[in-house]
Amino acid sequence: MSTITAARAYLVDLEVETERTDAVQSFLKQETVFVEIDTSDGLRGTGYSYTIGTGGRAVLSLLRDHLVPMLPGLDARGIESVWMTLFSSTRATTVGAITSLALAAVDTALWDLKCLRAGAPLWEEAGGFRRAVPLYDTEGGWLHLGADELVRGALASKAAGWQGLKLKVGKPDLREDVERLRAVREAVGDRMHVMVDANQSMTAAEAIRRARAFDELDLYWFEEPLPADDVDGHVRLAQATSIPIAVGESMYSVGQFRDYLQRGAAGIVQVDVARVGGITPWLKVAHLAEAFNVAVCPHFLMELHVSLVAAVPNGRYVEHIPQLRSITLEEMEISDGHALAPTTPGLGIRWNADAIDDRTVA
Ligand code: MG
Repeated sequence: MSTITAARAYLVDLEVETERTDAVQSFLKQETVFVEIDTSDGLRGTGYSYTIGTGGRAVLSLLRDHLVPMLPGLDARGIESVWMTLFSSTRATTVGAITSLALAAVDTALWDLKCLRAGAPLWEEAGGFRRAVPLYDTEGGWLHLGADELVRGALASKAAGWQGLKLKVGKPDLREDVERLRAVREAVGDRMHVMVDANQSMTAAEAIRRARAFDELDLYWFEEPLPADDVDGHVRLAQATSIPIAVGESMYSVGQFRDYLQRGAAGIVQVDVARVGGITPWLKVAHLAEAFNVAVCPHFLMELHVSLVAAVPNGRYVEHIPQLRSITLEEMEISDGHALAPTTPGLGIRWNADAIDDRTVA
């Protein structure tokens, strides 16, 4: 047995490393919700999830008032069992973001324990496909940046050997979007993957119009063009354009991904390990996507996603947005345009305990 003897949850606020804006919001701060779990075999697992500035205390309350007190006495090796026990106890508030984020903090702590117990890194324990995965950059493509700054960022990504970069779209005038994209495409040439992200800001009719205007730019994907609950709109858009439609960062259950995949509404799956409820459901979504011959390019959280993309055969890209530098002792390893999954046992993130203490707000 590896019985859970104690567990705790706390909230750590991290300042954003760069100003980040898109068509609908700004990244205000990273509210990082940690869960630590101690077990009878002398291990301590650390898991986490996050928000981009609101709702972190609601996640923490759900954990402290309800989920964490359920953990002592359970067998930490039974990850599916613990996940379902907690999920079943929250039926009246699921499927939902707050609950999924809380479940993810527990689930990632259990996976940390699983890997520590095995003395193996996450990328191997979760599947072990290959260690190095291609990176694309998002940090140079925010919506408030001018075309000159976008070009500068894109050229820096290219010089670093990265294969792709992402630009935010959704300017009020379609021509402005096209001009910004064209400036970048002309600067980087036709070999680099250029992705665009509208952050759910458009109607289906507008997204179809924009996709047509983007056609000349050879885009690698068109991300979150519509609100995530408009599956029909995504189906119509996917049928109207040859640009792959990328979705997933605003989905909170395996079933939501099934609906998109079954209906041909997703060309790229961007499942986010925090928002979907942890590594356990993340892997289910990745395998589901594989069955539909669809690639997985997860949203944000590169420090965790590097190991998960490395674990599965249909992992295609890791998104470069560093946000843990202030509370970790080493950065994600990057070589020749690829991120390398950590080889240390556990999740592979070396936390800086003092820095975390300094930033703990609840
Ligand atoms: Mg996005």
